[in-house]
Amino acid sequence: MIDVTDTELPLLPARDPFGHKGDYGRGLVVGGSLGMAGAPALSAMACLASGAGLVAVATPRCVLSTVAGYCPAYTTHPLADDGEQLVAEARTALDQLLSEADAAAMGPGIGRGDAINDLLERAWTESLPAVIDADGLNALAARRSFLGTPGGPRVLTPHAKEFARLRGQPLDNPNHDAQRLEAAAELARSLGGPETVVLLKGARTVVTNGHRYAVNSTGNPGMATGGVGDVLTGVILALLCQGMAAFDAARLAAHVHGLAGDLAAAKLGQLSVTAPALIEALPAAWRTVS
Ligand code: AMP
Ligand code: MG
Repeated sequence: MIDVTDTELPLLPARDPFGHKGDYGRGLVVGGSLGMAGAPALSAMACLASGAGLVAVATPRCVLSTVAGYCPAYTTHPLADDGEQLVAEARTALDQLLSEADAAAMGPGIGRGDAINDLLERAWTESLPAVIDADGLNALAARRSFLGTPGGPRVLTPHAKEFARLRGQPLDNPNHDAQRLEAAAELARSLGGPETVVLLKGARTVVTNGHRYAVNSTGNPGMATGGVGDVLTGVILALLCQGMAAFDAARLAAHVHGLAGDLAAAKLGQLSVTAPALIEALPAAWRTVS
């Protein structure tokens, strides 16, 4: 039986009064597709609201101006729109952006298909810390061949269905903390890499790297609404690019994200919680832990 080993929250160091934006990391969000421009924008905005110095979004040209229009504080960089061209062009564009980033988030709203799987396979071998979510996880599940190959520290953030696809089977009892932790730990260990963390989302999100275990107690069912997971991806990205280790980043992000959901629900009611409202609540949530 697994014990929860991590009950204390890790803390971000206080900001240096003489700090420069370059000291707080460059985050790169790779995502977006026709009809899903909001997902990478939510991740990027949450990342900026959680302390990252600079945020860039790489997104297909067809949605670039939509993504750019959501927020003036991040930069946007075009990827080709589809098919083989995406892979060829994105390789060069992405190589450059990845080499300039301190951490990356792969997957919000990126869609599915062979070209996306190729893109993820290519990015999977990068050594920078990365959070993989949504269709990034579906690409991993579709191309199991690249699981286990070397890369950087990674945080995978599946919800129950994405977890079942990655694992190859659903959980017998999806509401049992110890079973969720055990299955998530098994997956984290099987994926290899310097540090691979699985954050299995839901009520009482569990976080594990295969030997450390945490269960999150913030959050509420009002958060079961579109885009809320993209916000979590952005918060994790912010902590990774500020230099926090993958397990601590995932654990602290889950707590603050759930707290933002609780603050939004207290103000709006659970029925009316939305992903943008969660981003608005992030500053108050952060103030409780920093
Ligand atoms: P996603 O399914 O990717 O949009 O992510 C949804 C987010 O909301 C995750 O961070 C979940 O942990 C959180 N969430 C969803 N339902 C609940 C719930 N019933 N209680 C607490 N948190 C939840
Ligand atoms: Mg999601």
